[in-house]
Amino acid sequence: MLLLGGTADARRLAGDLARRPGFDVLLSLAGRTAHPAPQPVPVRVGGFGGAEGLARFLEDADFDVVVDVTHPYAAIMSRNAAEACARARRPLLAVRRAPWEAQAGDRWRDVDDVAHAIAALGQAQRRVFLALGRNEVRAFEAAPQHIYVVRSVDPVLPPLRVPHATYLVARAPFEAGDEERLLAAHGVDIIVAKNSGGPSTYGKMAAARALGIEVLLLRRPLTPDVEAVEGAQAALAWLEARRHEALRGV
Ligand code: NAP
Repeated sequence: MLLLGGTADARRLAGDLARRPGFDVLLSLAGRTAHPAPQPVPVRVGGFGGAEGLARFLEDADFDVVVDVTHPYAAIMSRNAAEACARARRPLLAVRRAPWEAQAGDRWRDVDDVAHAIAALGQAQRRVFLALGRNEVRAFEAAPQHIYVVRSVDPVLPPLRVPHATYLVARAPFEAGDEERLLAAHGVDIIVAKNSGGPSTYGKMAAARALGIEVLLLRRPLTPDVEAVEGAQAALAWLEARRHEALRGV
């Protein structure tokens, strides 16, 4: 099985699969982080060369099934997986994460992309917490009037060409109480983030609600229309059913 990862969900599912007999898993990572977390199964790193490259990879190594557990915003990889599996005639399961839903007290605004988030910050100086990938934050150089707190898994290098920025290097999970203290300490008045879903990065959302801080949420990209489940348990059930079908020669 080829597991397309890069998320904590993928790491957990890989661990669950490693403990079960009958599954031979290769986990694929894009290679975005300098020091990826240890993984419980064999890993390969780097792109495949688009949908065509992935289709060839599946055929050459004779994979039976592909499981897409990439991040909800990794839209290109998910689209390539759908196209490659259709080409190579391999079954594909997408493991999705439901988006967070706003609740009373939340001050969320959906924006189409980073450019719209920058426009929504306005001209007047804001204290902005950027909870985005280090490649996405560079666009904020276009709005140097703001005071930024930038958090990323790896350092943002070179630093942004803006006069006021503080950099925090940290990896989820983040707990709501710690997030509240962090946002208050930096006087943050607006957050730019992705609607990633799941508990590990929700702390900042709960903290924003408690502090009355506005959140600009990048809209989720569209996902391809493929068979999908939510959560590791459902994915394991689907994979077990497939394995039994294969053993019975169905
Ligand atoms: P993306 O824009 O959808 O993918 C860009 C390219 O990176 C793909 O076309 C593919 O290159 C390569 N790639 C992506 N995921 C891969 C994987 N699991 N294995 C091998 N190649 C992969 O995705 P992204 O936004 O760059 O995200 C990269 C990785 O970071 C994903 O695995 C994702 O789960 C993880 N991640 C992303 C976010 C986020 O917010 N975007 C957050 C946390 C984790 P080729 O076309 O050459 O095959």
